[in-house]
Amino acid sequence: MEKMYCFYCDKEVTGNVRVEKTKYTIKGKDVYVDDYVFTCPYCKTEYDFESLDEGLSKIYGAYEKLYGQISKKQSTGNI
Ligand SMILES: [Zn+2]
Repeated sequence: MEKMYCFYCDKEVTGNVRVEKTKYTIKGKDVYVDDYVFTCPYCKTEYDFESLDEGLSKIYGAYEKLYGQISKKQSTGNI
């Protein structure tokens, strides 16, 4: 059980955090990333723990762990 602030209930609530395996495909290869989702027990609102930016770097981190460094030249173009 975790404590978190629920914006809809406008108070701190205690609820369950579950881990969801989310599959992403980068350059044709499958990468699985753990996403932490908190569900408010009162209004059932779901909150993702990660912001989009953090999520993206986590996805690329997971990719690099499996398949090696992603070339920065390829992703940025003409540097
Ligand atoms: Zn709530």
